[in-house]
Amino acid sequence: MGKTCNRCGKRSMLEGSEHCGICLCEIIEKRAEKSLAGTSPTRKLAIASEEKFSLGCVAASFIVQNTSKHVKPRIIRLPDAERLAENGTTVLTAKCSDDAAIGLLQHFLSRDAGDKECHAINVLESITEKELELYAAIKRLKYAKAKKDSLKQGIQALQSRYPGTVEALARSSRKINELMKR
Ligand SMILES: [Zn+2]
Repeated sequence: MGKTCNRCGKRSMLEGSEHCGICLCEIIEKRAEKSLAGTSPTRKLAIASEEKFSLGCVAASFIVQNTSKHVKPRIIRLPDAERLAENGTTVLTAKCSDDAAIGLLQHFLSRDAGDKECHAINVLESITEKELELYAAIKRLKYAKAKKDSLKQGIQALQSRYPGTVEALARSSRKINELMKR
């Protein structure tokens, strides 16, 4: 007996996922849509990214175009985000759960203050890198594969041993950020 999709019950499972490809894509798009809720689609949209063709950047741009119809976000450089946000552009960032998890750990390891938060909506905050990689493969998105540093490799090894680790760390990171904003 093969495993079946957790959502629709079909037998066509994706390797490394609890879902079939169709459900996984729908789930990812729904989560991104949720973080975009309240963003007017007529507003100017931009995705702030360190690297133009990173997985997050390519996936976020594709998902936004898919979910908020007719809106093609500009890709901008991270340092320009604050200025554009002040000029009325809705700025999105494309950091997945893994990035948030790593940011949290780095914060404790090196005591640096972390990224300077601008008023950006993180469109991929509740999506893991693994899920994004599967999404990109299904949608045939071309992106530049980045080298994974040892912290990221460590977190992803933990995640495959204890699924949910990345999501839990990312949630903690969000909570801490919210508390610090008060
Ligand atoms: Zn399914």
